[in-house]
Amino acid sequence: LSDKLSGIFDGLKRRGALKESDVTAAMREVRIALLEADVALPVVKDFIKKVSEKAVGSTVLKSVTPGQQVIKIVNDELIAMLGSEASTINTLGVPPTAILMVGLQGSGKTTTTAKIAKRLTEKDKLKVMMASLDVRRPAAQEQLKILGEQIGVKTLPIINGQMPVDIARRAMDAARLQGFDVVLLDTAGRLHIDQSLMAEVVAVRDATHPVETLLVADSLTGQDAVNVAKEFDAQVGITGVALTRMDGDGRGGAALSMRAVTGKPIKLAGYGEKMDALEDFHPERVAGRILGMGDVVSLVEKAAATIEQADAEKMAKKMAKGEFDLDDLRSQLQQMSKLGGMKGVLNMLPGIGKMKSAINQSGMDDKVFKRQEAIISSMTTMERKKPQVINASRKKRIAAGAGVGVPEVNKLLKMHMQMAKMMKKMSRMGKGGRMPGLPG
Ligand code: GDP
Ligand code: MG
Repeated sequence: LSDKLSGIFDGLKRRGALKESDVTAAMREVRIALLEADVALPVVKDFIKKVSEKAVGSTVLKSVTPGQQVIKIVNDELIAMLGSEASTINTLGVPPTAILMVGLQGSGKTTTTAKIAKRLTEKDKLKVMMASLDVRRPAAQEQLKILGEQIGVKTLPIINGQMPVDIARRAMDAARLQGFDVVLLDTAGRLHIDQSLMAEVVAVRDATHPVETLLVADSLTGQDAVNVAKEFDAQVGITGVALTRMDGDGRGGAALSMRAVTGKPIKLAGYGEKMDALEDFHPERVAGRILGMGDVVSLVEKAAATIEQADAEKMAKKMAKGEFDLDDLRSQLQQMSKLGGMKGVLNMLPGIGKMKSAINQSGMDDKVFKRQEAIISSMTTMERKKPQVINASRKKRIAAGAGVGVPEVNKLLKMHMQMAKMMKKMSRMGKGGRMPGLPG
């Protein structure tokens, strides 16, 4: 997305305020990105409208391009809509308090129930009991029991032939008698919203007065997310959402859809089948994923903050003159480390996931930077200023000083030569202003 946006704004070159026609063009791209991320259509429309109003007429900051400015506005608004407040699971009330887990079949209710139980037991030191009210699927109650044994959390003993609401009452009574703090009630789902399901869940709700009713939803749910969230919220009343399968390759548009139609916070995110694959929901992360641009925004911000103004100016001057010595290369390498190293930079860029393993294999990791730094540091000042003076015997000494082989020294010198050449070319074209290696 950021590439496309930058493209749109390339011809613009900072003319003060963003114009409506520019914003409209950019919003076309944003709209496509949101739809590709499976955000529900009505939510997309709302979002575009809101952001357009904000963007039109906003002044473009000196330090960024119009494209980056729009990305930032879109990203900020997305984060705000996804919920900038931190939200935790509520367990407050006269114990035992009930937490009711609802959602469609296969959304991950049972798994998430056990994950939450584990978290409340281990992190919050609460005495937790789980009960499965799923009498529809054979072995559903057994499934929860097995998970309970795995994580060391008690489950309500199974009595066959009971109705869900009776199991719920029995669970609350047992928990009260045995001094439990929290009871997690795992309900049965259906493949689609249906009235018998809703009636069942409502009956359980009225019998247990849960402090928290969590809608468990598969983050890969597309356009249907709005419907599911709306219905559960209207009929049962939810207090929050737990999104599962965030480890999948969906872009998580369901998060925005559900949050937008219910206004209820997304409290948790499931990142796998294992019992500890449960995390707090991070709006920034998901916003970047929805836009398909990684953390471009934070990369832009971080880069701007990390590269000290003076350094940047000095470097720009040198580049304009076509000078770029090994001291400059070393400070570039150091700046890369400040950005969190190669991996840190890569993590913030979109579409890079698949490339990462290739990069790991190629050995282009932070260790390489450290070694390159070491090679430069074991040169004399003279050598750093005028690499041409480095002959075979000096190379040997430098390699020994840095604890590497001569081929690595050669590689570094070659890399430097290529960079210097490229910069000379750039400065001849009169584009010396942009820092190399940073997103333009
Ligand atoms: P329920 O029908 O709503 O109770 O769903 P289950 O809890 O039984 O989960 C259905 C399937 O989804 C199981 O195979 C789970 O292991 C799997 N699952 C649940 N949460 C996640 C998650 O966050 N990531 C992945 N990859 N799988 C999950
Ligand atoms: Mg289940």
